[in-house]
Amino acid sequence: MSNPHSIDNQIKWATDILYNISCSARLDSEILLSFCLQKDRSYLFTWPDQVLTKDQRACFKGLIQKRLTPQPIAYLIGSREFYSMELKTTPATLVPRPETEMLVDWILEQASLLDCPHILDLGTGTGAIALAVKKHCPDCEMVATDFSRAALEVARSNALKHHLDVRFIESDWFQSFAYDTLFDVIVSNPPYIAAHDPYLSQGDLPAEPQQALTSGESGLDALATIIDGAQKYLKSNGVLVLEHGYDQHQAVTDLLLKAGYRSIKTHKDFNELPRMTVARSS
Ligand code: GLN
Repeated sequence: MSNPHSIDNQIKWATDILYNISCSARLDSEILLSFCLQKDRSYLFTWPDQVLTKDQRACFKGLIQKRLTPQPIAYLIGSREFYSMELKTTPATLVPRPETEMLVDWILEQASLLDCPHILDLGTGTGAIALAVKKHCPDCEMVATDFSRAALEVARSNALKHHLDVRFIESDWFQSFAYDTLFDVIVSNPPYIAAHDPYLSQGDLPAEPQQALTSGESGLDALATIIDGAQKYLKSNGVLVLEHGYDQHQAVTDLLLKAGYRSIKTHKDFNELPRMTVARSS
């Protein structure tokens, strides 16, 4: 009989336990075990019969128990990959989502047409959007804000880790924002879930900072504030790039039209859902 404390059997044990709370139970188990072993996932497949030490087992069991509470994997291992960058991630920040990479792709495409573009990322969290754009567009002037000081500390440490020069400003959207240059691009993945949406109690969402997820009864408060405020900080013909919920594209388009933006276009994400709207200032 194979050893119950072998890598393979420990992964099976954890996968069964996590099955009820995660739709990626096996992957979660593998990531947490690799973290305890300080090896990458391929090690697990190469050495399935290796028996875990007592410390490694305790580490793994502890993380599986926390995962059940549930705590997102990113908080348990303290990082998350975004746009092929390993970003420090803590409960002070939203866990970066793969859908948000679409905003980066789109901005990089625009930025390639401009000379030293000025770009502003509002509500940066881990710094994901700002840092990914800066990494692939080194000559852009990047500014990023967040109203949470704890989130800004995380974003700053990610900038240091990746040697990227981004200017961080503490501000509640544009409220205490002072900057003397207008921007070519303003981007935001703001909170946009309706305050009483039952989705908020599902999966890992209860563990994430609620102020980074919800925005008023309709979920549109932050989007409306950004759409209005960005007018003042965009160059003429500048671009506003917004992530929003799959059912908010019409409401966002209406807000943009009312505020006088033009060339409004909604893009679908990889799930074929309308999740990003871009517009130009007049
Ligand atoms: N896209 C996230 C989700 O649906 C929400 C992030 C946000 O509000 N910006 O879980």
